[in-house]
Amino acid sequence: MSSHPSLRPLYDFSGWVVQQIQVTPTIAVVKLHRDKRLNVYCPHCIRKASVNKKVMQSAYDLPIGPVNLVQVLYEALQGYCSGCKSYFTLHPPGIDGYAHATKRLMHYVCRLCRFMPVNKIQVFLPISTSTARRWDKRILAKYLPDPDLDKLRVILIDEKSIGAGHQYMTVVINGETGEVLHLAEGKKKTSLESFFQKLTPKQIKNIKAIGIDRAGAYKSVIRQYAPKAQIVFDKFHIVGNLNTAIDEVRRSEWRKANKEDKQFIKGQRFNLLRNGDKLKEHQCDDLARLFEANEALFQAYLLKDAFATLWTYVRPKWASKFLDNWIEWAKETGLRPLIKFAKGVDRDRNEILAWIKHRVTSAKLEAFNATISRIVKRACGYRDLDYLYLKIRQEASPPVPQL
Ligand SMILES: [Zn+2]
Repeated sequence: MSSHPSLRPLYDFSGWVVQQIQVTPTIAVVKLHRDKRLNVYCPHCIRKASVNKKVMQSAYDLPIGPVNLVQVLYEALQGYCSGCKSYFTLHPPGIDGYAHATKRLMHYVCRLCRFMPVNKIQVFLPISTSTARRWDKRILAKYLPDPDLDKLRVILIDEKSIGAGHQYMTVVINGETGEVLHLAEGKKKTSLESFFQKLTPKQIKNIKAIGIDRAGAYKSVIRQYAPKAQIVFDKFHIVGNLNTAIDEVRRSEWRKANKEDKQFIKGQRFNLLRNGDKLKEHQCDDLARLFEANEALFQAYLLKDAFATLWTYVRPKWASKFLDNWIEWAKETGLRPLIKFAKGVDRDRNEILAWIKHRVTSAKLEAFNATISRIVKRACGYRDLDYLYLKIRQEASPPVPQL
């Protein structure tokens, strides 16, 4: 064992002085003692206070070269302030007495966790995975800025199921920037209410459009908290519903068809659902033969093709007229799945036409989905929703600084 005075500048903790540094090939111990010339001030009211006791404590610190395990041993001061009548413990600045680590080591771990799976930290530093996760969360909670709720104009709300246990959570995203604003357990009313309760009346007033899943349960909460905002149903979800209806027609026609007619329907599922302009020539020929043999599927296909026109409208009023015609046409076909879809469209007309006005798409949500699966993998779990929220928000921020 040997002392290393040249390493002293690395351990500059104001108010404490280096007494000794001992380094072996596997561990380094840095001993600090309190500078006795200095007065002690109460951390709460900054009055001069008395020290009752000095207690030896230890904190992990950054590696020194190849020596991975570095411990700082120091005198923590326990005192009493007669001014504000409170007890306190003083640690050297730069040491987190609660975490038993230097803040610079915690920052280092936080920076590593940004880019590497948390369970790999122990390959490089003598700390466990749970400790790495705890420190990462503590530093992120302190450093990440809160979401900007003042300039919200469009928000997207969705429910997500994560992991094998199908745990549900409610996600709120800024529809323009993609910033994640809120993450809460469950997909119930309360999961979304807690978001609106964070907003001031002025911030709520700014919100012009709210994109939600057609099947979700959030509509009533939005009506209650943001009655002026327009609810927008996602375009791709509506198109998906229409495709499901078309496919139901195909299946029912298949069941009714005789052996000869089945030949025409066979293998046409994707040709029917794909956009006409994306079909190859032989696929178009197949469809043409099918339509000659089956009037119902021909009608269904024409309806599907026509529905795409809806999204090209610029004025909601004209789009609404188009919908009237389309709904009538769908009803005239007598095809049940399409009639059911048309009735749903009629019922949700306002939310569908709101898309024409606001053009809200779930593209930002798709990006979020990709991010979250990557983060869940890197964080090796998602049991802690607060941590998950911080990890997602971190993606859009630069790494925390190294102290
Ligand atoms: Zn005090």
